[in-house]
Amino acid sequence: SPMVREHFLDKKPDLSKMIRIGANENPYGPPKSAQKAVCDSVAGGNRYAWKEMSDLVDKIAKKEGVSKDYIMMGPGSSDLLEKVALVLFMHGGNIVSADPCYMSLVQVAKSVGATWKAVPVTENHSHDLKAMEAAVDKDTKLVYICNPNNPTGAITTGKELLDFCSRVSEKVPIFVDEAYIELAVGADTESMVGLLQKNKNVIIARTFSKIMGMAGIRVGYIAAQPTFIKQIEKITRGGMGISYTSIAAASAAMDDSEFQVMTRKLNHEAKTYLLGNLDKMGYKYIPSYTNFVIFPINIPGKDMLTKLAAKNISCRAFDIQNKPWLRVSMGTMDEMKAFVSALGTIS
Ligand code: PLP
Repeated sequence: SPMVREHFLDKKPDLSKMIRIGANENPYGPPKSAQKAVCDSVAGGNRYAWKEMSDLVDKIAKKEGVSKDYIMMGPGSSDLLEKVALVLFMHGGNIVSADPCYMSLVQVAKSVGATWKAVPVTENHSHDLKAMEAAVDKDTKLVYICNPNNPTGAITTGKELLDFCSRVSEKVPIFVDEAYIELAVGADTESMVGLLQKNKNVIIARTFSKIMGMAGIRVGYIAAQPTFIKQIEKITRGGMGISYTSIAAASAAMDDSEFQVMTRKLNHEAKTYLLGNLDKMGYKYIPSYTNFVIFPINIPGKDMLTKLAAKNISCRAFDIQNKPWLRVSMGTMDEMKAFVSALGTIS
């Protein structure tokens, strides 16, 4: 039985009228460079984007230090999490992951018949790698690691994880979801993508939705061994869900390091401001290496969502081990000020 249960308002709020600090989006995107690329490319949209996609994969492969056959594209990394789950688990098996973790891949695996072997995180909220390794058995088809993790915002350190992935991937493929890795400022963590050159059976997922500020533009990819990519693409094609304009936006955003540097800086400033105020109010949060922070609250999650919604603020609430927690994404500094002032009135 899962440790985590999410709470929702009875009626879906009209997000267009709200301060949106619930979905771990980037409040500064899309970058101007990507917006211009969308406008400049839209006239080409009567054609399939064969050449443009090929050029984007070239660019990504170069960045990741692999050749093109290691890369599979998707409209957001969600698409690839789901496709991998569908293909690997269509004949059953089990998946090992931390609990809590980001549930997209696990959910789809379970839906097609997989068993979820949930391994509680450690006391400091990082992956319990020892217990995860012990959970792998002859029916395990995949280990899923989200680092930094969602909804906790916590990290598992780079050296520990490198060692785990190198060793355990000899037995079973390891999927490492790095959606937030660029935001892990000051953390002892690193991408696992380098393991591909060492012939390790790891799958790295990356998204343009967070640091690149393009959650609604929909671009993501996995990097994995060519044999693994072929196994997935035998059943379901990569890349076909991405529009001509999104490809242009992704390419422009990759070149726009200035935007990424700015996002990292402003995200860090907003988080520092929020954490300082949570300290003052006595909330004990989990140290965050992402663009969101989660902390225990003193009223039921749904009550908290209702009170925040009355102040036009949208967050996410979870019960973790039957205790209520609030997860807050970093907005602009003004949005964080509005959140802090709203939270101060709620008890
Ligand atoms: N992985 C993690 C850990 C996430 O938190 C998210 C979104 O919040 C995703 C993947 C999916 O993002 P997208 O489909 O926009 O790439």
